[in-house]
Amino acid sequence: MAHYNKKFITCLMTTACNLRCKYCITSSMERKNIHIDTDFVRAAMQEYFEKTRNFKVRFYSVGEPTQNIEGIKKVREIACDLAGGEGVYFELLTNGCFDDEVAEWIGNHIHRVWVSYDGPRDVCDQIRVTPEDTPSTGRILKTVERLKDMTSVGIGLTVSLFNLRRQKEIIDEIHELGIDCVISKAVLNPVGKTVDDIYAVDIIDYAREFVEAWRHARELGVHYTNDLVFNFDGHSSFYCRACEPTPHLTPDGFVSSCDRAFSGDTPIQDLIYGKWDAQRKEIDYFPERMDNLRSRRVENMEECSDCEIRYQCCGHCLGTTFQWTGDIFQPIREYCPAIKFLYGEMKKDMRPGEFWPVEYTN
Ligand code: SF4
Ligand code: SF4
Ligand code: SF4
Repeated sequence: MAHYNKKFITCLMTTACNLRCKYCITSSMERKNIHIDTDFVRAAMQEYFEKTRNFKVRFYSVGEPTQNIEGIKKVREIACDLAGGEGVYFELLTNGCFDDEVAEWIGNHIHRVWVSYDGPRDVCDQIRVTPEDTPSTGRILKTVERLKDMTSVGIGLTVSLFNLRRQKEIIDEIHELGIDCVISKAVLNPVGKTVDDIYAVDIIDYAREFVEAWRHARELGVHYTNDLVFNFDGHSSFYCRACEPTPHLTPDGFVSSCDRAFSGDTPIQDLIYGKWDAQRKEIDYFPERMDNLRSRRVENMEECSDCEIRYQCCGHCLGTTFQWTGDIFQPIREYCPAIKFLYGEMKKDMRPGEFWPVEYTN
């Protein structure tokens, strides 16, 4: 299943975070600890469920979602109530740093958990650190060990200059942990900021190393994927759910189409398409922005019009392209050689469902 088929309502539960990762792009530590308003979630979820009958809920955050674990429990109750007896599928993206009680609840109530782990261990120790600047790797791996016997677990891997050339080693490590799905993403400049160059990677270097690790992962039976190849095994005009748009509810009460536009004051404003009115208990939508997002199809991207892989690349992630180019219809030219290289290397023996296994969303 190609990634554009993955449709969830996303609840960004809080801005609070209990880590201080060196490359953090959300700047969660600079924000006040704002938890999402569950009345807002109920209103948006009711509309989404009624309109789509797609009972899938994704817990994400500007910080760490489990910093608002009571909110997660409440939203789960709301979703089950609104679904009226239909089964609801829950997904959580987390840094894996929480206590045994939280782990127990997650293992028993969440269908799929993506844990961020920037292996190998010595790299993660340097990058994913606590506010006291101590490593978090031990806690992360303990969480993975515990949850893997209770629910479905995948790893979210951020690739920086520190682990760029160690992707095969990371795959081995994760395979030994008993996990069979890894999504990686290269470190990018954060929205409105410039990340320290000691973390950012060259995209073509990342692509070359990724391919080697992907081949290695296949031999081990591990799915290794990333946001450049997500749609390679499909055929679509649209890159992802952001083009529908499907709701991502921000802690400060906005409806966004995308994880990267995580607050009302985001510089990538075109991706914000609604606002919660807490007085009236209603959501006001911005129809022009919704129309604009819906028209973000690869046929409307002039520079992609004669690209031979336009229906597999789909113009790439619009949050990232907007961040780089200031225009959702403008591709990131620096990325195109890397995407084309990856397709050329991988298409020869690609298998259906390889880049976004259907069992991870159903
Ligand atoms: S866990 Fe996520 S939000 Fe928290 S500091 Fe790390 S990257 Fe930032
Ligand atoms: S970051 Fe990219 S893949 Fe994720 S929701 Fe936004 S546009 Fe889609
Ligand atoms: S590789 Fe570049 S030109 Fe081709 S579809 Fe993707 S973004 Fe457009």
